[in-house]
Amino acid sequence: MYDAIVIGSGIAGAAAARVLAEEQNKSVLVLEKKAHIGGNCYDEEDAYGVLIHRYGPHIFHTCDEEVYAWLSRFTDWYAFGHEVVAKVGEKLIPVPFNLNTLRQVYGEEKAAALEEKLKSTFGEGARVPILKLREQQDPEIQAIADYVYENIFLKYTMKQWGQKPEEIDPAVTGRVPVVISYDNRYFGDKYQGMPRDGYTPMFEKILDHPLIEVRAGVDARDVMELSESMGKVLLYGEEFSGSVIYTGPVDELFGCRFGRLPYRSLRFDFEHLDIPDYQGHSVVNYTVSEEFTRITEFKYLTGQETEGTTIVREYPFAYTGAEGEIPYYAIMNPENNKLYERYAALTEQFSHFHLLGRLAEYKYYNIDAMAGKAIALARSLAKD
Ligand code: UDP
Repeated sequence: MYDAIVIGSGIAGAAAARVLAEEQNKSVLVLEKKAHIGGNCYDEEDAYGVLIHRYGPHIFHTCDEEVYAWLSRFTDWYAFGHEVVAKVGEKLIPVPFNLNTLRQVYGEEKAAALEEKLKSTFGEGARVPILKLREQQDPEIQAIADYVYENIFLKYTMKQWGQKPEEIDPAVTGRVPVVISYDNRYFGDKYQGMPRDGYTPMFEKILDHPLIEVRAGVDARDVMELSESMGKVLLYGEEFSGSVIYTGPVDELFGCRFGRLPYRSLRFDFEHLDIPDYQGHSVVNYTVSEEFTRITEFKYLTGQETEGTTIVREYPFAYTGAEGEIPYYAIMNPENNKLYERYAALTEQFSHFHLLGRLAEYKYYNIDAMAGKAIALARSLAKD
């Protein structure tokens, strides 16, 4: 009946489904566990008419021309340079830590001298991961590294991951480097912003193709079975020999038989306020205080003009797999990666079965990288 099944309709599943249908003329069934498409990019108006990101702030940014062009077929963009500040005591300081932050923290005169030292050590415009900065021998640079570590990374990372910055994959803290420039933007990419009408309409357009059928509110585990005795995929009880792209957690395919893959989850605490402005910034990171990691004020992300304002606080916790919990971040480390590989290896007995995405690949993808990977995977399946 179908040539391909895609499980999950986040950016990975949606982009892959589109390419399979459009470029390979395959009929695609998309199964989505949630009641809606778009995965964790999903956005919608809340009860007050404010466009919110139900699963936390998603800001699109890329320097990949092809991905940008591909997604631009399905949306126009509200282009803006996303800026973040951290609340440190009573101060709000720009993050990533950059030369503006340096001036704010050290004062003009001291900062001028330090700026020269940073530029001569790393080069103007350099992006230096905090763990690299900490390796420097120079006492003044060490002092800056200590400040950044203590005031921006330590507490936030403890909240987000339950571990210290040096205990987690260095690529994670490396996402937010110290930047040797006066650019306050959170990302350095050429293109950054939001789908003009929101993510959900963009996903609707991606999935709007005569060869794509989406079934939302369907848990793939209820309709698809990986029969290890037969080495076959069964769909609604019948053998399915087409391509399957799975974007969910891989341990769940096998009853978590080696133990659960660890992920971090989040609780989102939304609040609507009858005031036009709460914090004057799209995102404020709480890097030294509070139980939550950050507060997002949506109107500053989306550019929407509304009388009131809606904010969300994010409270991280360890995912347990309990009903209703959502895994957001893979906790990449040698031990967990090994466990992941054991599960991934079990999928190899099924031909045409492919793991794709943050959950299924146990990786930390951004939207653009995910779209690029999904498009490439789908294209590689031309003969699947
Ligand atoms: N991070 C931090 N303090 C900050 C911002 C980021 O310690 O003010 C660390 C933290 O470990 C976080 C990681 O850098 O998980 C990556 O941050 P990013 O903003 O990219 O996370 P995301 O938006 O994907 O949750």
